[in-house]
Amino acid sequence: MEQIAYVNGSFVPMSEAKVSILDRGFLFADGIYEVAAVLDGKLIDNASHLARLERSVGEISLALPETIERIQEIQRELIARNNLASGLVYLEVTRGADKGRDFAFPKGVKPTLVMFTSVKDIVNAPSAKTGIGVVTVPDIRWTRRDIKSVALLAQVLAKQAAAEAGAGEAWMIEDGKVTEGGSSSAFILTQDDVIVTRQNSSAILPGCTRKAVVALAEERQLRVEERPFTIAEALAAKEAFVTSASLFVQAVVSIDGKTVANGKPGPMTARLREIYVEFAKQTAT
Ligand code: PLP
Repeated sequence: MEQIAYVNGSFVPMSEAKVSILDRGFLFADGIYEVAAVLDGKLIDNASHLARLERSVGEISLALPETIERIQEIQRELIARNNLASGLVYLEVTRGADKGRDFAFPKGVKPTLVMFTSVKDIVNAPSAKTGIGVVTVPDIRWTRRDIKSVALLAQVLAKQAAAEAGAGEAWMIEDGKVTEGGSSSAFILTQDDVIVTRQNSSAILPGCTRKAVVALAEERQLRVEERPFTIAEALAAKEAFVTSASLFVQAVVSIDGKTVANGKPGPMTARLREIYVEFAKQTAT
């Protein structure tokens, strides 16, 4: 059966889900997106994703066309209509379609809201067992990376470089330090068992999974330090890993073809992944 998408108030088959070529998301990347995971038909950490959505739209002075409560209802209805057990719900809001292509905000134009789902077995993903390789690329993005904007060309190029190298993710480098992954937060575990990840700022997206993993680790008295790290540190680390809604916690076993530790997912990564999966299942809504 064809997937059902949501477009501006209607649930429609994917092949009929369309927006105008004048949509500002298309013309200017003038829009914000969110991706939340689904397990057993329920949303994972969705309040965190919707809080980030509200913050992101606020930062670009874009009013949501629906209330947060209604957006959550639409997410749930879409999950139900697609019989989605495990996967992702993507949502995007743009500043809508005006009559032409003027850069400044249009007046009286309703924002566009679209959503669709995709199937993914996040818990049993094969790469969770093997880990992934990453490649490093310069971070060429704009300086408001805390806004989850649909302007993702730098990440498209970074992740294409990773794909061409047979790697699963790209780590972006600025001033000699890792900012984050193309679509994930970056972590290492130092030789003295400190979990290190860059502190939130406008240099990175505040990952919802990152936030939950840091809180879950601290609750268990694990040592967490929020600071930038270099690739040399990552290569000398006990473990490295990434977090995101679509991967949860996933080991990084090589960087630019050089292995991290023994080239296998380490015990801390496995433990944090288990802890996160447990948290996800218990708090799903
Ligand atoms: N950093 C970037 C640049 C991302 O695009 C993403 C997710 O897409 C993340 C981090 C991870 O964020 P989250 O854990 O909220 O999925």
